[in-house]
Amino acid sequence: MELYQKTIHQINDLLDKKEVTVAEVTQAVVNRINTVEKATDAYLSLQTDDALEAAAAVDVELSGRAQKTPLEGIPYGLKDNMCTKGILTTCASKMLYNFNPPYNAAVYERLSEDGGILLGKTNMDEFAMGSSTENSAYKKTRNPWDLNKVPGGSSGGSAVAVAADTAFYSLGSDTGGSIRQPASFCGVVGMKPTYGLVSRYGLVAFASSLDQIGPFTKDVQDCALVLNAIVGHDSKDSTSLNLKKIDYSQNLKQGVKGLKIGVAKEFFGEGLQSEVRKSLEDAMAIYKTLGAEIVDVSFLHLDYALSAYYMISSAEASSNLARYDGIRYGFRAEEYNDLIDLYKKTRSQGFGDEVKRRIMLGTYALSSGYYDAYYKKAMQVRTIIKADFDQVFGGCDVLLTPTAPTTAFGIGEKTSNPLEMYLTDIYTVPVNIAGIPGVSIPCGLDNNGMPIGMQLLGPILSEETLLKVAWAFEHESGLTNLKAPLGTEV
Ligand code: GLN
Repeated sequence: MELYQKTIHQINDLLDKKEVTVAEVTQAVVNRINTVEKATDAYLSLQTDDALEAAAAVDVELSGRAQKTPLEGIPYGLKDNMCTKGILTTCASKMLYNFNPPYNAAVYERLSEDGGILLGKTNMDEFAMGSSTENSAYKKTRNPWDLNKVPGGSSGGSAVAVAADTAFYSLGSDTGGSIRQPASFCGVVGMKPTYGLVSRYGLVAFASSLDQIGPFTKDVQDCALVLNAIVGHDSKDSTSLNLKKIDYSQNLKQGVKGLKIGVAKEFFGEGLQSEVRKSLEDAMAIYKTLGAEIVDVSFLHLDYALSAYYMISSAEASSNLARYDGIRYGFRAEEYNDLIDLYKKTRSQGFGDEVKRRIMLGTYALSSGYYDAYYKKAMQVRTIIKADFDQVFGGCDVLLTPTAPTTAFGIGEKTSNPLEMYLTDIYTVPVNIAGIPGVSIPCGLDNNGMPIGMQLLGPILSEETLLKVAWAFEHESGLTNLKAPLGTEV
């Protein structure tokens, strides 16, 4: 196996034994980027020269030490909605085409302090609104398993960087599935932590009550390592949880004997691709052989989750995106008559269609005449969905569901039908509404060789259990660090 294909923990073993240097590891992944990035287009901007320089510095730092910290010297990618001081942060929008943040996102600050090596900023749907990364104002990212298919979204670039071995791990943000769905489409591990576990400071807001940052990795063990590094209280994020730190890799390999894994028919309804269903049934059988119990559970109100999500997320987006007025940041229209005209022209020219659609929907839902009928109603549904999850987790430890109803679809296949695009999130959005954690791991391939994702969900702060359940399947099935059939010369 090539160096760039390895997992973080494999690289750590080599670094600890001094068999490779951080400079060699970084050079290997930079060479990989030079070979395949033009085919996958995972990155919006690259900092490979800085990365190589940083790698040499970490080598010097490590030369006097026996052991390194887990992410020290490991090259990674960051979704382009996380602020990086002095490095463009565009949110894949024309509106922020020249935005150089004056401060760092908390996660970037933490990884930098840990000696992490930033390779570049990854492509995404504009302001994280979308499910295929096709809403980027700059480029279309391609799925390394089939370059004519989408990588999922909105964190498609981050998913592809890991799937194509152009980063050892990456961070994404998940408001309604934007980590888990692209992880599922690209055959990698993606986790959305409990709301509040990871600081959102410096994450450009889409829908503040739903947004959460999380990792993309090549296997479950790596996911635990990255989670360890990014979790923690931050006084700059008022929703950040102040909890005692735990080591998510500690109990990873304890097995699932006696655990109750819930299966709800509401997640196996109409529109579910038959190969996805089959693959999940196989996964249930594996869990049974490992000593877990599969139990039937059911939801009463899940049907309303998707509508409530698009109402709440658009309402919050319309408010969050009001700040892009052409005065304070980024893009400004060149010709205008007066101040109001400047606002109008800037926003008309700076935002893409999907962002405008959300702003209009959200503004409508929040307007005085319709607030009760739409926004308030959606918030009531939110409370009911939370209660539904509480009731379900009264009967099981974790829930097993498909991550998405289908495997990756073709580029351009759903762009003209927003509703069809929204439906790809049907199994992921309830999780953000309830604030609970979820992880997507690969559980097979469909007949066209495209990856299938399985989603594991648990109550608030059950990350440790989720990772244990995920690891048990990954270990037993051997579906780990999957390699997309992307040649070395593309
Ligand atoms: N696809 C969903 C949307 O478009 C989720 C996006 C996200 O999680 N950022 O809103």
